[in-house]
Amino acid sequence: MHRSFSDDRLVIASHNAGKVREIADLLVPYAVFVEGAGALGLPAPDETGNTFAENAILKARASATRSGWVALADDSGFSVAALDGAPGIHAARFAERADGKRDFDWAMKQLHEASTEAGDDLAWFTCALALAWPDGHVEVFEGRVDGSIVWPPRGGHGFGYDPVFVPAGGKATFAEMDPDTKHAISHRAVAFRALISACFTATE
Ligand code: IMP
Repeated sequence: MHRSFSDDRLVIASHNAGKVREIADLLVPYAVFVEGAGALGLPAPDETGNTFAENAILKARASATRSGWVALADDSGFSVAALDGAPGIHAARFAERADGKRDFDWAMKQLHEASTEAGDDLAWFTCALALAWPDGHVEVFEGRVDGSIVWPPRGGHGFGYDPVFVPAGGKATFAEMDPDTKHAISHRAVAFRALISACFTATE
């Protein structure tokens, strides 16, 4: 039995303004006042978990216990079969150069080369969403979308690894899709639909 969300406010346990905006947009039909963790002055915990779910839970719990609000956190990443699911939870760090700047062109090339070498182009995105209450209760939902890693990178939308990922059965990369099309089928959409159907009720 899932716990229903019945408050009128929610904190998004992220300091990434883009992520806060994206999640706030998805919550518009649920008449809830949404604030980001940064705006509430909440610290960002170290992501020390070994899975997407563990990292989402630790981020959501940190914000819920500090703020007294119910908190929603997202942890996501990109995996290739050729590397047994790496970079996975380390997808953002994998693209980081020595000077701290992110270089996704380099990261995408490394993952494509490893896939070609292994003769296996299977790749997937994963998203875990955790909804945590100040009393410690937590609900977790996961979404995954399978596809292939392609070369060269194509498309100007999206972010991160979107230009080299074609979802199964499709031809366009995530970065070639308009944002609404990607958001309807993405790993985040799958996890979000599960969260909504378990914990939220739409208002008129
Ligand atoms: P997080 O903010 O720690 O969850 O970082 C997730 C990382 O995974 C991002 O920086 C991207 O590298 C990658 N990632 C997650 N979701 C997507 C997506 O929808 N498209 C492209 N890359 C993604």
